Amino acid sequence: MSTAVGTMGLGASCSTRQAGALGRSGGRADTPSRSETLPRRVLGRSKRPVSLLGFGVLHVQDAALYQRAVDRGINYFHFVEDRNTRKMLAPDAHNLAAFSALRAVRPQLVISYMTVERESKAVMREDLDRFLGASGFETLDLWYVCCPSPEQWNDFCEVFLEARRAGKVRCAAISTHRLAEDMDRLTAPESPIDVVMLTYNYTSSTEDRERVTRLSGAGLGVVPMKPLAGRFYEATTDRPDACLRWLAADPRVHSLPVAMQNAAQLDQNVAALQTPLSDEDQRLLTASLSHVSSRFCRMCGACDGACPHGLAVSDLVSVAMYREGYQDPGLARCQLEAIPTSRRRRSCHECARCAVVCPHGVAVRDRVRVAQELMA
Ligand code: SF4
Ligand code: SF4
Repeated sequence: MSTAVGTMGLGASCSTRQAGALGRSGGRADTPSRSETLPRRVLGRSKRPVSLLGFGVLHVQDAALYQRAVDRGINYFHFVEDRNTRKMLAPDAHNLAAFSALRAVRPQLVISYMTVERESKAVMREDLDRFLGASGFETLDLWYVCCPSPEQWNDFCEVFLEARRAGKVRCAAISTHRLAEDMDRLTAPESPIDVVMLTYNYTSSTEDRERVTRLSGAGLGVVPMKPLAGRFYEATTDRPDACLRWLAADPRVHSLPVAMQNAAQLDQNVAALQTPLSDEDQRLLTASLSHVSSRFCRMCGACDGACPHGLAVSDLVSVAMYREGYQDPGLARCQLEAIPTSRRRRSCHECARCAVVCPHGVAVRDRVRVAQELMA
């Protein structure tokens, strides 16, 4: 929802930090060049043409930024809001600027919203109605649910079909960090899910690349999250836009929703997609792999419960990603404080060696230590 700059959302694990912008640029940007164009791709069986660069809306109160995004050719806007976000922001600081700017051009757009609160059908219904009420959008093009369990998946399908009959939503989508487990459900002929948001970038395994082929073959829309691999790649190069071009070169990928906070980031991301993936891009990406792979957490949860001392390993690794990758110590601290004290306090220095093995090669003890430094 993460591009040469930025990340997506606050609080929830999968829905947030999925996008970003290239680099960490800020400040003013010049008048956009009209010679640049953003391709559009049909988002699987949703049949919606979406811009290759999407916009992950991040509570930025700048209506001109959203208008500029539309002017630059972006027609896909992705919203996420969860309970943590609402707690952290004053009521008037939510997405009002985006809503007011986008309502004026709503028929041209594809709007998606991610429900993070999914503990019951009633909660999901309430969340959808809250978003529609606050936005003033009569209909949602894509309604996502964030990483549902099998039971929540069934509940979501039921409330989605009900909402579609009521004219509130058009298409259903899920995000997942556990693609292998969700594949059969996603590709089942009776599944109402049209689009999947999955952790996918140049660090993805051969198995995940094959799964993307299967999803695409089944007609699903494919929307990557964490396209910048936690932004650790940026530590290895001054050309972070290669990550976006790598994904853009994959015709199975339909849109890259990136969180952008200012015009400079927006323009940088649009510019990144004006050139094809080059041999130099490939070389830089390959050279970064060992640095990135030992740090980038896919949030698969495989390490949950694996620390014999009871540390909340996956949450702590995620805190380290916000601190070091996204370079957002405020959010990292906020995430850290959301972990029960007993599951974050013990220092790894007291442990002889790490008993947690990450199947994706994350150096767990090192990452946990980075998170624990925030408690010092
Ligand atoms: S550290 Fe590894 S096992 Fe744990 S959640 Fe991240 S990717 Fe999965
Ligand atoms: S090094 Fe840290 S995370 Fe690893 S087993 Fe020991 S206490 Fe747990």
